[in-house]
Amino acid sequence: MSLFGSAIKNLERAGKLQNIDAQMIEILSHPRRILQFSLPIKMDNGKVKVFEGYRVQYNSARGPYKGGIRYHPEANLDEVKALAFWMTIKCAVAGIPYGGAKGGIKLDPKKLSARELEDVSRAYVRALKDLIGPHQDVPAPDVNTNAKIMGWMVDEYMSIPGNEGKNAVFTGKPIELGGSLGREQATGAGGFFVLMNVLKHLKKDSKKTRVIVQGTGNVGYWFAKYAYDAGMKIVGMSDSQGGLYDTRGRGMNPDEVMNTKRTKGLIAGVYCSGSVCGSVGYKSMSNAKLLEMECDVLAPAALEDQLTSGNAARVKANIVLELANGPTTPDADAKFEKRGVIVVPDVLANAGGVVTSYLEWVQNLQSFYWEEKVVIDRMHALMDSAFSAVWSIKEKKKTSMRMAAYAVALERIAEAIRLRGGV
Ligand code: GLU
Repeated sequence: MSLFGSAIKNLERAGKLQNIDAQMIEILSHPRRILQFSLPIKMDNGKVKVFEGYRVQYNSARGPYKGGIRYHPEANLDEVKALAFWMTIKCAVAGIPYGGAKGGIKLDPKKLSARELEDVSRAYVRALKDLIGPHQDVPAPDVNTNAKIMGWMVDEYMSIPGNEGKNAVFTGKPIELGGSLGREQATGAGGFFVLMNVLKHLKKDSKKTRVIVQGTGNVGYWFAKYAYDAGMKIVGMSDSQGGLYDTRGRGMNPDEVMNTKRTKGLIAGVYCSGSVCGSVGYKSMSNAKLLEMECDVLAPAALEDQLTSGNAARVKANIVLELANGPTTPDADAKFEKRGVIVVPDVLANAGGVVTSYLEWVQNLQSFYWEEKVVIDRMHALMDSAFSAVWSIKEKKKTSMRMAAYAVALERIAEAIRLRGGV
């Protein structure tokens, strides 16, 4: 089944569970707007290459469209539709005044020079310029995009006459261009706050918790760092080139692992050219094998479709913390539910990023900037209340955290749609 197809399957299940009006489910089964465009770029060798770009604006009943832009060789419209739908659910679970969207460009960013990467980023903004804006659609970073890329994008947007000063159009920007302190670590930190809530409710000692993190991008690294600083044992880490597991059970320091990744320098001034695999003293293995190693918490922080009906039975963790979007297929979800494995769904576990994007947007709109601690504390408070809303439905309905999160979101979105006239 397509990624979007399985996303909608969960929507339908949750709709039934919470007795949501079938017409609301019908509305939410369709994205409002799908954009696909061609981005011709003159490459460094003088030849023109055409890249495919996408933006899906899923639903805006609760506020402007909101969601990241990913750069990936496998990016495609089906994936972007699913991701845009999940953003709609995520913003509603988090209780922030946004709808949902997502964008992407099909490219292998590590094969582009800095100039080519900048050109394609700016071309993407020109293609979308009339359909984004601080109160229309507010893009942000996602897989393989970061503050530097948001800087090029916001500059391109603000250089269009009439858009001067409208830096609230993008979030995840560099600090000097109106970015927020705390946004860099926000997704990982938010995942850590949610995990602490889960451990507390399960009466588990965080200091005795062994964690495997799949993926050492922005989200995986920061989550591992927060978990490590709180005394949890990081027994496994990985990146796209492979994984490491600590067979001695002592745990690894994410900063040391990250330093190995950084030693080889940067590609195009944006991407680490090294890999965590260069770290010594650990057993190296494939990403697939790492997911099945002994631990208490497994945190997939890379891409979708990692936990499937093929490997779910071999996963040893009793908590899966979805820091990536869509890492668990519905079949795997059903297997985990049967075995009593708690899956903390992406729409809650990784919402710290978009919550802090919201705080960045608020600071931009009022031109008044807060200290890092204020930002993180506000995000923490929003994450705690999102967690409580989800956990109480989970307990009341005796259902999974994913279904409970969808139920919370659907109530809120359906109410907004009703109040705006029912469509
Ligand atoms: N790309 C992130 C996500 O999937 C953040 C989106 C945002 O900040 O708008 O949640």
